[in-house]
Amino acid sequence: MTGHGGKGFSTRAVRAGERTDPETGAVVTPIYETAVFAFSSTQQLVDAVSEKSSRDVYTRWSNPTITAAERKIAELEGAEDCAVFSSGMAATSTAIISLVSPGDHIVSTRDLYGGTLDFFTNLMSRFDVRTTFVEATNVSEIESAVRKNTKLLFLETPTNPTLKLVDLSKVAEISRNSGAKVLVDNTFATPYNQQPLRFGCDATIHSATKYLVGHSDVTAGGIAGPKELIGPMKKLRRVLGGVLDPHAAWLLLRGMKTLALRMEKHNLNGQQVAEYLESHPKVERAYYPGLSTHPQHSLAKRQMKGFGGVLSFELKGDLNHTIRFVDSLKLALIGASLGGTETLVSQPSRATHYFMNPEERRKAGISDSLIRLSLGIEDADDIISDLAQAFDRI
Ligand SMILES: *Cc1c(COP(=O)(O)O)cnc(C)c1O
Repeated sequence: MTGHGGKGFSTRAVRAGERTDPETGAVVTPIYETAVFAFSSTQQLVDAVSEKSSRDVYTRWSNPTITAAERKIAELEGAEDCAVFSSGMAATSTAIISLVSPGDHIVSTRDLYGGTLDFFTNLMSRFDVRTTFVEATNVSEIESAVRKNTKLLFLETPTNPTLKLVDLSKVAEISRNSGAKVLVDNTFATPYNQQPLRFGCDATIHSATKYLVGHSDVTAGGIAGPKELIGPMKKLRRVLGGVLDPHAAWLLLRGMKTLALRMEKHNLNGQQVAEYLESHPKVERAYYPGLSTHPQHSLAKRQMKGFGGVLSFELKGDLNHTIRFVDSLKLALIGASLGGTETLVSQPSRATHYFMNPEERRKAGISDSLIRLSLGIEDADDIISDLAQAFDRI
């Protein structure tokens, strides 16, 4: 397991973290599907427990297949260390609990993954940790929300579902001046398109369920950053228990090997479909950072290498037209996730934001005619033909 720090992204994606089995020469990292590791003496066990040796003891603490996945994510993000979890929410919740105590304050973007929003508003608040929600695109609003007791700036960029961007280097500067840590949920962009640590952010969080796994077949999460931050999160993971199963870790390892190839295709499909939608007479507007009409397109070009496979758009029409359009799609599957090889479609007002009251939804910019697409890696022409026949039905 040597570092591949100086190597290109694809080389790291394929090779980082992988262990060629010394006994058999097996090229692929084995699945260590074991809960416990045996020792030849009590002293050996004591050395492992006291971290005098780096031997694994118990899979809730560490496991070689999980460690391999952690190395790979760390090297892709340009981070020193990474902790992998059983889901993106296990990563997010464990990371945040590790950084705040009662009386502390969090500043977060208003546009936020639903589970994270729920965690801040309904759980952290019970432990006297308050969160101020700010407009993602407004750096000065972020800056003025920071107080003496602000320990954490939490953000997503691009945001869900309207693909707003947060200026990473400006937020990193705010965090340096205030001493608060800045965590970036990098799920939508992936380290292929955006590496927040390069801009001075402290750590990146992933719902690895999405692009890192890439095949809609595993739930997993991760957080990558410096050892001093990730170490305590790994300790907390032992207590909270959100550990990834070794078999799932192996699927995550396998998925990440093709991350660059998949993201290139997601980026191409995203751009092509966004341009098609933007010029379609039945579309009110399209949201995609790669469009030159995106209000933050120049920031997108500065901090992202590509713009990903998620986009959204508003139909000209009401809720019924929108449902009819979505239900007419044949290739795109109706599903409330993203980042897989197959194209998924969902209406935020009928899925992720269904339980928000209509007024709140309007404020968040989620109209009844908003549709989100997670473009897979199918041929763009086929995705566009599918959209075209659905437009003909409304
Ligand atoms: C899906 C998602 C999560 C939660 O991840 P799970 O793996 O479903 O727990 C967090 N953040 C973003 C941006 C997501 O899309």
